[in-house]
Amino acid sequence: MTSTASQNSRTLRSTVSQNSRTLTSTVSQNSRTLTSTASQNSRTLTSRASTNSGPPLVIPIFIPHAGCPHKCIFCNQNAITSSTDMTMPDPYHIDKTVDEYLKYRGDRKEAELAFFGGNFLGLSARWINSFLDTAGKLVKSGKIDGIRFSTRPDTITDQSLELIAQYPVSTVELGVQSMNDNVLDAVGRGHGAEDTLRAGAKLRAVLPGCRLGMQMMAGLPLESHEMTLESARKMADLSPDFVRIYPLVVLGGSRLATWYHRGRYTPLTLEDAIEIVKKLYLLFTSRGIPVIRMGLQASDIMEDQRVMLAGPWHPAFGHLVHSRIFLDRAGELIKAAITNSKITGTDLAEKYNNPAEQADKLAEQADNQAKQDHNQAKQDHNQAKQDDNQAEQDDNQAEQANNTAEISSGVKKLTLTVHPSSLSRLQGDKKSNLKKLHELFPSIRICIMCDKSLDKNEISIKK
Ligand code: SF4
Repeated sequence: MTSTASQNSRTLRSTVSQNSRTLTSTVSQNSRTLTSTASQNSRTLTSRASTNSGPPLVIPIFIPHAGCPHKCIFCNQNAITSSTDMTMPDPYHIDKTVDEYLKYRGDRKEAELAFFGGNFLGLSARWINSFLDTAGKLVKSGKIDGIRFSTRPDTITDQSLELIAQYPVSTVELGVQSMNDNVLDAVGRGHGAEDTLRAGAKLRAVLPGCRLGMQMMAGLPLESHEMTLESARKMADLSPDFVRIYPLVVLGGSRLATWYHRGRYTPLTLEDAIEIVKKLYLLFTSRGIPVIRMGLQASDIMEDQRVMLAGPWHPAFGHLVHSRIFLDRAGELIKAAITNSKITGTDLAEKYNNPAEQADKLAEQADNQAKQDHNQAKQDHNQAKQDDNQAEQDDNQAEQANNTAEISSGVKKLTLTVHPSSLSRLQGDKKSNLKKLHELFPSIRICIMCDKSLDKNEISIKK
C-alpha cells in the first residue's frame, strides 16, 4: 500500500497495490516526510488493486483425460471441456482451431497453443512428439508464439523435460491442487506436495525461459480454509508466474458425486467460496503473482444439473470475487473517511461530529446513571432491582450508541469513483455491493461516479 499526500493540498491519494511486496505510506508536509495512512486535510483516498498486463491469447486444444494415470475423485474433464469426443485432435483440427482463434487476437502480442484437459507429459512419447511437432510448425510459421500445456507435477522428470526441451514450450501449468499430502491422498491424486516442489525447481532449472503456472483448488475434502491458505503460501514460495484458483464443485460422473450423494462430502457454499478465494487472490497478488482465473469457465453444459450437481458454481465467479474485494475496499475507504473527520483539525472538527467523543460521552452518562441507580438500590432493595435493570438497559443503549456513533459521524455524503470498466465490480452482482454499503453506513448517501483517468483497480473517495 502506497499513500502520498501533501498537507498543503486538499487531496490525498492512497494506493493499495496488490503486486507490491511492500506496504508503505508517505505524507509530505512542507518538505518533511512523515509516515501516515491518511492526511488530516485529505479529501480524497484512492485504493488500487493489482494490474495484470498483456496476457497472451491462449488457444485451447482439449485432450480430456489423455495421459491421466487414473481419474482424480473430483474430475470429469469431459464435462468441463464440453467434450465427449475421445479421439485425439489431429493436425488438421489443431490448424483449424488456431485459425479460428487468431481472428480474435486483437492487440495481444503473444499467442500460445495450449493442450488442456489432460496430463500432457503423461502421454506416450509418440503423442507428445506428434502434438509438439504440429505446434512447433505453427510457431515456426509465425502464426503463434509458443506452446503451453497442463500436466501433473509428478510428470516433470529429467526424461520428460529432455523430450520437450527441443520445442518452443513457453508455459507449463502444473495441476498442484493442494500442498497438503493428506488432502492429496484423500482426493486420489497419487502424488505429494514434494512432487510439486521438485517439479517447480526442475522446470526452472532446465527450462529457465518457460513460464510456470500453477492450478489450485479450494474446498477439497479434509482441507480447512487455513490449510488452503497454507497451500497457497507454499505455492507462492515457488514464485509461479501465474495461478488459477478453482473452488471445488461436484461434477456428475465423478467419484466425488458418489461421496456427495452419500453425505461424505459437503461442498463450500458460494459465499464461503467467494471469501476463501478472495483471500487466496489477495495472498498471491500481494506477492506479485497474477491470478489469471477464478472458477471454472462458463459454458452451456455447466448449466445442466446432471453435470453440475452441487457446489459453488457461478458463471461469473471471478467477477464475484473481484466485486467482494471492491466492496471490502469501499467499506475501508468509507470508514477511513469517517475516521478522518474525527481527527481533522479545527475546521473539520467543527464541521463533523467526533464519533469517539460522542461515544465516550454516552458511556460516561450511562456510568453516572448506573451509579445513581446503585445508590438508590441501597435505599430500597426492590427498587434497586428495577434500577439495576434500568442500568443494564442504559449500558445496552450506550453500547448501541457506541456502535452507531461511527456511522453517524456527521458525514452525510460520499462519492466513490472508479474507472468505467470497474463500475460493475464496485456495484457488485445485482448491485449487491451498493445495498451492503447502504446497510453498513445507513446515514451516508453514497454516490458512484466514473473517471477514465483512474486505474482500473482504483477506488477514489471524496467527501
Ligand atoms: S485432475 Fe488432472 S490428472 Fe486428475 S483426472 Fe483430471 S485431468 Fe487427469
